[in-house]
Amino acid sequence: SSDKEKPGSVAKIKVVVRKRPLNKKEIAKKEEDIISIEPHSNSITVHETKLKVDLTEYVEKHEFVFDAVLDEDVSNDEVYRETVEPIVPAIFHRTKATCFAYGQTGSGKTYTMQPLPLKASQDILRLMYHTHRNQGFHLFVSFFEIYGGKLFDLLNDRRKLCMREDGKQQVCIVGLQEYRVSNVDTIRELIEKGNATRSTGTTGANEESSRSHAILQLAIKRSIDGNESKPARIIGKLSFIDLAGSERGADTTDNDKQTRIEGAEINKSLLALKECIRALDNDQHHIPFRGSKLTEVLRDSFIGDSRTVMISCISPNAGSCEHTLNTLRYADRVK
Ligand code: ADP
Ligand code: MG
Repeated sequence: SSDKEKPGSVAKIKVVVRKRPLNKKEIAKKEEDIISIEPHSNSITVHETKLKVDLTEYVEKHEFVFDAVLDEDVSNDEVYRETVEPIVPAIFHRTKATCFAYGQTGSGKTYTMQPLPLKASQDILRLMYHTHRNQGFHLFVSFFEIYGGKLFDLLNDRRKLCMREDGKQQVCIVGLQEYRVSNVDTIRELIEKGNATRSTGTTGANEESSRSHAILQLAIKRSIDGNESKPARIIGKLSFIDLAGSERGADTTDNDKQTRIEGAEINKSLLALKECIRALDNDQHHIPFRGSKLTEVLRDSFIGDSRTVMISCISPNAGSCEHTLNTLRYADRVK
């Protein structure tokens, strides 16, 4: 509908929580599910078991309310509909939109994030070939990660990249591979290639990916004056960010020096991200990008007409209680 086409009709910041089901290991260990969800009031309650001084147990309840609360039976299709789908039309109207998956390692960030760019590009291509046909729009895909404060191209053998500011508030990542795509199969291949590059790092699959932020960007560009041979200008952008495991930010006292440095960088970037989103929400003119590589890279997505969706992923088991509360408190601050 025409109303959906208007970028202004979608909230600037949306915070959504997604709970995953207990896994086999947790069930085998008879771990308790401590999360209850009220979808109608968008509220979520954490039932924390605590000990009194006399060592008897009691339960402390922590209730939070978000823009949407997605229970364990909600499908990836529904997650897409609730989060990214409403902002897709706006990127043809100069909007820069960003979708984050935040949470501890194992809470479902990658499971949640992986299908979203594919579904979004399906919709983008459909709009490009129908609603916006013959308007000279093209879709470009790039995929890179930030690891220990450095950038690596996931579509080009993890080649190291550097960032440059062009003085006009546009972010330029020198040498980043960008693929112009016109069909969903090509996009699927690129996403799979990038994901494989990400998880086959030097040490070990999950260990590695939990310490990096993976950033997949879909950019809508238009050739200048309809001249296909001239470089295209960016119209809108949609970024998908599978953040480093939030618990990694606490690795600042680890025995291993490298781990400590990475932990400090992750901590810094997640704090800077929170501050930038809050500044955005308050329409502040000064957005504190310079706090970290992550926020510097996203700089042009925080200015102008921007949209942010934060998907906070949580594990249901009692053993994750502290991390879950940290994730919900972080999301609450961003809201
Ligand atoms: P993270 O990226 O946050 O470390 P993953 O996305 O890898 O976590 O999820 C951890 C495990 O839990 C994976 O095996 C994944 O398939 C499973 N999982 C996560 N979320 C869900 C869900 N909503 N429904 C079913 N399985 C899930
Ligand atoms: Mg992951």
